[in-house]
Amino acid sequence: MPILRSLFFFLFLFFSVHSEEDTPIARFRRYLQFNTAHPNPNYADPVSFLISQADSIGLQARTFEFIPSKPVLLLTWPGSDPSLPSVLFNSHLDSVPAEPDKWSHPPFSATLTLDGKIYARGAQDDKCIAIQYLEAIRNLKARGFVPLRTIHISYVPDEEIGGFDGSAKFVPSKEFEDLNVGFVLDEGQASTGDEFRVFYADRSPWNLKIKASGAPGHGSNMYDNSAMENLMRSIEVITKFRDSQFDVVKAGEAMNSEVISVNPVYLKAGITTPTGYAMNVQPSEAEAGFDLRLPPTVEPDLIKKRIAEEWAPARRNMTYEYYMISFGIGSYHPLMIIEKGPLRDYMGRPLMTLTNDSNPWWPVFKQAIEAAGGKLTRPEILASTTDARFMRERGIPTLGFSPMTNTPILLHDHNEFLKDTVYLRGISVYESIISSLSSFKGESHKMHSTS
Ligand SMILES: [Zn+2]
Repeated sequence: MPILRSLFFFLFLFFSVHSEEDTPIARFRRYLQFNTAHPNPNYADPVSFLISQADSIGLQARTFEFIPSKPVLLLTWPGSDPSLPSVLFNSHLDSVPAEPDKWSHPPFSATLTLDGKIYARGAQDDKCIAIQYLEAIRNLKARGFVPLRTIHISYVPDEEIGGFDGSAKFVPSKEFEDLNVGFVLDEGQASTGDEFRVFYADRSPWNLKIKASGAPGHGSNMYDNSAMENLMRSIEVITKFRDSQFDVVKAGEAMNSEVISVNPVYLKAGITTPTGYAMNVQPSEAEAGFDLRLPPTVEPDLIKKRIAEEWAPARRNMTYEYYMISFGIGSYHPLMIIEKGPLRDYMGRPLMTLTNDSNPWWPVFKQAIEAAGGKLTRPEILASTTDARFMRERGIPTLGFSPMTNTPILLHDHNEFLKDTVYLRGISVYESIISSLSSFKGESHKMHSTS
């Protein structure tokens, strides 16, 4: 009896240690356990972990530091024809912060529950794809698959805070140029249904400030053209425009991400006193701020005209400024007003990747999903922004995709989790995608010159 018991104990130990160290789920959980949350993301340890994984698979690894302590890790699986444009799989190393007291399990514990849920900040956004890429390549290599095109995987810092020290430095670099990238897959979002979601564009965020001025006056008088009156009139006009866009969404004619959103984020007015506001003074200045998001289908000049003529017209003593959250080729300054908006690539084309047969990569990608037993929903514009915009600015076709079906969308939320079965299925989806894209012969020249 004691012998049997110790045998069972030995077997238990063997399997538990074994499963801790050698399974795809264990490797995913280890990657989730690095605390990569802002404001102080740990980049060094996950990068060492990824390099050790790359070594065990037999991938080449290089690290670039465009900004000290903010590494970009690049893994490479050389293709048999290195002259063909390569395929790049991107993910970001960092995560948004988590509030541990609002979580059912510590956010960097990667707790695996009995029903197969893995709880961690980053489980969906986007550490899943980071390791799935590697597991897919591990399996393809084990089967003796040889890619025709070179496959690169990039791990970039700071995506969650705008990517300015990450992709915004990497993508315009000589090092990136040398990769001769023909097609990119970057992160997408979970799907609550049976079908996978795919994103062909991001909306472009603008920060809009409008300011009204007018003669100050006694609170008891009715003035024409006072600052408050002018600002309130503008807010009415903007609200009407917002309603017209929202109505289209409510009628089911477009998705939230396909219309222009304009949402008030602050109001600033009033003469302050030590106890509050002077209640009998009409102020000479009043200001409001808006978060404006433009889909790439919108002509930016039309919005600029609308702002100048209707939202903040000079004839009503209004001024305005807008900051496009831009980046990209050249230098970045957060308060730079750029005339040519980031809705266009370097050739002046809308920043979106075509999802029809005129993009030769699209049918290859779509068929790869189907070959893995999956289906895609109608391609979408992402409501927010990702690093994909930097690649699209260079004219490189880029799709956002994270293989998560039947999963609640929990990115940036409390109790972010991913089910083990969903995670494992994603690996086989990437096996299909990586083998199809890397075997694709049709695109024998680079899509666009980037010189
Ligand atoms: Zn993300």
